[in-house]
Amino acid sequence: MISAGRAGELGASVILIEKNNNLGRKLLITGKGRCNITNKEKTPREFISEYGKNGQFLFSAFSKFGVQETINFFEKLNVKTKIERGGRVFPVSDRSQDVLGALINYLKKSHVEVKLNLTVKEIIKKDNKIEKIILANNEEITADKFIIATGGKSHPETGSTGDGYEWAKKLGHTVTSLAPSLVPVIVKEKIVKELEGLSLKNVEISVYKDNKKIDSRFGEAIFTDNGMSGPIIIDMSKKIGKELPWNVKIKIDFKPALDFLKLDQRVQRDFLKDAKKMFKNSLDDLLPQKLIPVIVKLSKINPDKKTSSITREERKKLLHLLKEFTLEVKSLAAHERAIVTSGGIKLSEIEQKTMKSKLIDNLYFAGEILDIDGPTGGYNLQICWTTGYIAGESTAS
Ligand SMILES: Cc1cc2nc3c(=O)[nH]c(=O)nc-3n(C[C@H](O)[C@H](O)[C@H](O)COP(=O)(O)OP(=O)(O)OC[C@H]3O[C@@H](n4cnc5c(N)ncnc54)[C@H](O)[C@@H]3O)c2cc1C
Repeated sequence: MISAGRAGELGASVILIEKNNNLGRKLLITGKGRCNITNKEKTPREFISEYGKNGQFLFSAFSKFGVQETINFFEKLNVKTKIERGGRVFPVSDRSQDVLGALINYLKKSHVEVKLNLTVKEIIKKDNKIEKIILANNEEITADKFIIATGGKSHPETGSTGDGYEWAKKLGHTVTSLAPSLVPVIVKEKIVKELEGLSLKNVEISVYKDNKKIDSRFGEAIFTDNGMSGPIIIDMSKKIGKELPWNVKIKIDFKPALDFLKLDQRVQRDFLKDAKKMFKNSLDDLLPQKLIPVIVKLSKINPDKKTSSITREERKKLLHLLKEFTLEVKSLAAHERAIVTSGGIKLSEIEQKTMKSKLIDNLYFAGEILDIDGPTGGYNLQICWTTGYIAGESTAS
């Protein structure tokens, strides 16, 4: 949308083809319906480093259309923005619909012809140029220049089914290995099913590979039917994915504010408060209700045992569960549940300043289809705004 709008704004005659019957279906579900447009916490250099080594590709494009230009762009389209925790930029209205509405207005103002409900089936190349595209209804469209911005493979119900990767391969481009990124994790322990839906606040979760800590985050997470999700898990999922398939564990510290000793004192105090209380009824002040039966079961302490009779050894076991609740990661969840797809069109085959293919004279790429992805916090949409704007501008000249 931003590519088409920018090209049209500069005077090009543009057709935008979308296979859904409305535009921006994925944009609407971003940021839980609030659309985290970008992130304004860091300097441009720090911002780019969030994308890892492939971020280098964005240097030139960012100097033309970076974070501030994106914010100005939306403000000009009447989307006022606000900055939240961690530099996350949202529309003041908290409505992704308003971001989409602004882009649709931009398309109108730029005289872009939008064709909905039409799926591109094939791209036909002649010599070193795209000659035409063929739609599912066999209609053919010719043009001087073409931009592929079909997104990744995640949440395919929004229309992003990875079609562009296949076209690109057929056209001679390299598509690097594709994997779900920013995704929940699936664990081996079946007991998580009993915790499904339990959301955790102020916990610390660490990732271990071969018993060595490789990452750790403080914040929110949630148990799913077969594993874990939520902000800190999603953020660490890329690192977890790299270490799979063997010996990757996550350890949850349910009480990060208290070290072992302080937690032990706290538990002893709770136990002493009512020494006749049974163990299974003694954790109400310490843990969320849903977690208690699971902790009781895993501690192997007799649930009916009086707290006064609980031994030091048993207490130690309990503390270990509260500070190092360990789950072994089986896999990452599939593309269907991922926020983005990592991997994509190999960046060395694309011109950094224009987003033009180095292999095909009149072909451009923009957005998630490229081999760059970032963490949560607005970094992924920023790739789309930047590369989309630049691709649109380049095709118009
Ligand atoms: C649940 C969720 C929440 C997210 N939240 C955020 C967030 O808050 N901030 C952030 O920065 N990022 C977020 N992201 C990531 C972000 O949404 C994507 O990176 C971004 O939408 C990719 O944009 P794109 O234009 O490249 O592709 P897409 O948004 O996937 O758009 C591609 C379009 O191409 C169309 N298309 C595909 N194939 C064809 C075809 N053959 N013919 C015609 N049309 C076709 C599709 O229907 C689709 O409309 C989120 C993602 C998800 C899944």
